[in-house]
Amino acid sequence: MSSLYAVFGHPVGHSLSPRIHATFGRQTGIALRYEAIDATPEEFPRALDAFATAGGAGANVTLPHKQAAYALCATVTERARRAGAVNTLARSAEGWHGDNTDGAGLVRDLTERHRFDLRQRRTLLIGAGGAARGVAPSLLDAGVGELYIVNRTPERADALADILGQPARVHARYLSDLPALGSFDLLLNATSAARGGSLPPLPMSLLAPRCTAVDLSYGEAAIPFLAWARANGAQQVVDGLGMLVEQAAESFALWHGVRPLTDEVYEELHARHAALVTA
Ligand code: NDP
Repeated sequence: MSSLYAVFGHPVGHSLSPRIHATFGRQTGIALRYEAIDATPEEFPRALDAFATAGGAGANVTLPHKQAAYALCATVTERARRAGAVNTLARSAEGWHGDNTDGAGLVRDLTERHRFDLRQRRTLLIGAGGAARGVAPSLLDAGVGELYIVNRTPERADALADILGQPARVHARYLSDLPALGSFDLLLNATSAARGGSLPPLPMSLLAPRCTAVDLSYGEAAIPFLAWARANGAQQVVDGLGMLVEQAAESFALWHGVRPLTDEVYEELHARHAALVTA
């Protein structure tokens, strides 16, 4: 009998995770069912309980539930603790075990697929929600230089910088401080601003010569930030599709003990989004 997995989000209809995990299952010969479950923040804890009762063995968690899921875990990995957010849940005897594979997924995509050397890069992370929390510890572990975090709600940037520690290396700033921050080798948009059709105001001075700009979202949502970066001289622009595939592979490995190959599913999704993606 196949095991039951799911992705929880709100909305979640757009999620590519069911398709990605079905492909991984076929590739590795592992039988699984993987569903998308839409739950509002109010519904999420009960929906997760019902999923466990129905035999759910593991789940991904996406916007806006990553911090709520962290709070519902009996145990978490060290990287999830440092993020204060989980994107992967595995059922254990104690309850839910939480992990966060977003950061490992992003770093793997940038360093292996895009051959980008993260070491000593002066880095700007825009956003302090679940995705930013997931990727920040991995960026530090991968050796980026100074990391500046800015967020529309400054308290969330402060909270993230506090969790990360390393005050000589990690700095929380206001969006209004951006013009005074100088230029960055690596800029990451980890906001969901484009879903509302708007980008926070970003000065051109942020882009160092030959910089790389990354939007954690993909498809249409990635276009405003990546088009802005490209129009203002970024050498390389990368959307979040590769990160999505790589974080899914990390989750799959946690659940099934086998790491699937990712190039095939990445190429297939990339081709489908090619008309939308500027990278
Ligand atoms: P959250 O809801 O947890 O956080 C949203 C973030 O966006 C917050 O920092 C929020 O600021 C900011 N924001 C929202 N609207 C605006 C706006 N109009 N102007 C400025 N800032 C804004 O979402 P996630 O962190 O989970 O997701 C963020 C993005 O990352 C999404 O596009 C998501 O699709 C993508 N993502 C991609 C993944 C991948 O694998 N490729 C994995 C995870 C996420 P504030 O705190 O002020 O509300």
